Amino acid sequence: MRINPARASELVESLTSIRNAVAKANSKNRPVRLVAVSKLKPASDILSLVQAKDPQFHFGENYVQELQHKAEVLPRSIRWHFIGGLQTNKCKPLAESIPNLWCVASIDTVKKADQLEKGRAALCEGEQGKDVQKEEGLNVYVQVNTSGEESKSGVEPGDASVDLCKHIREKCPHLKLAGLMTIGAIARSQAGGENEDFIALVKERDSIAKALAIEASELELSMGMSADFEEAIRQGSNEVRVGSQIFGARPPKQSSEAKSQVEEGKK
Ligand SMILES: *Cc1c(COP(=O)(O)O)cnc(C)c1O
Repeated sequence: MRINPARASELVESLTSIRNAVAKANSKNRPVRLVAVSKLKPASDILSLVQAKDPQFHFGENYVQELQHKAEVLPRSIRWHFIGGLQTNKCKPLAESIPNLWCVASIDTVKKADQLEKGRAALCEGEQGKDVQKEEGLNVYVQVNTSGEESKSGVEPGDASVDLCKHIREKCPHLKLAGLMTIGAIARSQAGGENEDFIALVKERDSIAKALAIEASELELSMGMSADFEEAIRQGSNEVRVGSQIFGARPPKQSSEAKSQVEEGKK
């Protein structure tokens, strides 16, 4: 795979400045993971950052086929995060085909959890699963619809999210409930100040932890993107997912949607 040195140094420079901004916003020095969201960007961009002097290993992708392709051609040391909207019928193939899939951040139904469980179990039993760390399980985040917008995916806060979290912990031995994720409404972030979606996710985490009789610190919060990751960290995020501020703007939404539909093969 060919790497363009000028592009590589540009990428390393933007990654470094995001890492610095993350550290600066994190005044309490909690562990905060930076996921570089590489959807619709070439595999060579990712490789540039994996091979950097201070390498990046956590990358986020939104489309199953695009991720499968990249996972095949890029190093196994990468920890892939699937962060996109997930169809139930894609869950098993996703979990089964990528040994270095590190987490799925967008579970919002029991059915999807069950299909991921099946896929991960099959992976662990098969040839590819030899060096998969079986004890750890595939990390999953339950996506919560904190904004109440119908267009946003995610489970409703309250009983539904508690039930889903319980199901994952009790019925899915190959999955590990890592925490909760929200996308949130961009408009609220852009208004400045505290973001209501982030407040809602913190509250939801606390009430789920109580219902499950575990410490709140056992559930991570994945919240914050390019536009609002600093605010998200100030409000308690453990994981930010930053794309365009590292890789530059993506193709416009319509053409990327068209692309994803072609990739997902549903036309
Ligand atoms: C695309 C995407 C991101 C990254 O968005 P940017 O605004 O480019 O940082 C983060 N999270 C999810 C779920 C995404 O789909």
